[in-house]
Amino acid sequence: MDLFEYQARDIFAKHDVPVLAGEVIDTPEAAREVTERLGGRAVVKAQVKTGGRGKAGGVKLASDPADAVEKANAILGMDIKGHTVHKVMLAQTADIAEEYYVSFLLDRTNRTFLAMASVEGGVEIEEVAATKPEALAKIPVDAIEGVTEAKAREIVEAAKFPAELHDQVVNVLQKLWDVFVKEDALLVEVNPLVKTGDGKVIALDGKVSLDANADFRQPDHDALEDKAAANPLEAAAKAKGLNYVKLDDGQVGIIGNGAGLVMSTLDVVAYAGEAHSNVKPANFLDIGGGASAEVMANGLEIILGDPDVKSVFVNVFGGITACDAVANGIVQALELLKSKGEDVSKPLVVRLDGNNAELGRKILTDANHPLVQQVDTMDGAADRAAELAAK
Ligand code: GDP
Ligand code: MN
Repeated sequence: MDLFEYQARDIFAKHDVPVLAGEVIDTPEAAREVTERLGGRAVVKAQVKTGGRGKAGGVKLASDPADAVEKANAILGMDIKGHTVHKVMLAQTADIAEEYYVSFLLDRTNRTFLAMASVEGGVEIEEVAATKPEALAKIPVDAIEGVTEAKAREIVEAAKFPAELHDQVVNVLQKLWDVFVKEDALLVEVNPLVKTGDGKVIALDGKVSLDANADFRQPDHDALEDKAAANPLEAAAKAKGLNYVKLDDGQVGIIGNGAGLVMSTLDVVAYAGEAHSNVKPANFLDIGGGASAEVMANGLEIILGDPDVKSVFVNVFGGITACDAVANGIVQALELLKSKGEDVSKPLVVRLDGNNAELGRKILTDANHPLVQQVDTMDGAADRAAELAAK
């Protein structure tokens, strides 16, 4: 999960990274009071999860509270690379003498963490990497040892920071490493890290990306999620603990057990759809190994609630959870949804194979639900589901 700059600023402050005071607002008028609190002047910064705000006009200096209202008014609602600005951060202005770049990230290719640093900050770092690679220092960081003082000095020297700033930048790097480790981040980037006119080093713009796999031990991170931007079906699925991804331009709802099976189901449905008005899969949904009636009902509820979905393909390969349990789950799920007053009117194509397939198929045949059809092969079932969606 990528964070907004103001959230990164707050996390930096929590771990004692030097930052300037700042507050986030979502109406222009609120800029007046905040600017007064910040000492009468402010930098007004668009809060969007993309870079290059400065170039796009999303960072403006305000000389007094009335000017801040005007600047906030100009920036709120602005479109920056397809992102609408709903919030601006007002921050204390900095007297900038130099702009640098530092970051920590996960280097998947080399199976290590990586520190990057450059005294040529402020501009996009991809540009520095492409045009002046020697100006970007890259130092691997061992996961166990982390950023010791010696490691921080190595980074600072490799990037050729001015000698009089070494101690300050070493301190900033160690604090940023604290952020990286303690917050379970995948990326912590500061651009620019600035030297002010009076020689202080401050993180002026931060980018932090958090590892969602660590959510279970980071209870505070849930509050950082941009709930308004989330797809409502995905949000509902997340609340139910389902592994669901909505896909664009699809008509066939997909439920399967096991991520690999669901991925190949998407391919098979997309292929089958070519013969049926080009219908496509509408979502990814993996209900996992232990598909109880309740999990099946939750999954069906999400998928049937998607107005794009015209038919549903339930593709199950019985393993630890046998097909008879899944079949009972489907029957009970349909009852459960009906009793909750849900609209259950879309056709379901079910393919059961693997452990106890015969028994599972018999359960569905005996239930004789008017919306449920069974096809015994994956290709055949995909074709039927596509055909029904195209009708
Ligand atoms: P980005 O373009 O989205 O990366 O936004 P930044 O927060 O990095 O701001 C872009 C540029 O605006 C920085 O590189 C600075 O040159 C400038 N800037 C940001 N804050 C201040 C400030 O308080 N004072 C001054 N003078 N310039 C600022
Ligand atoms: Mn920046």
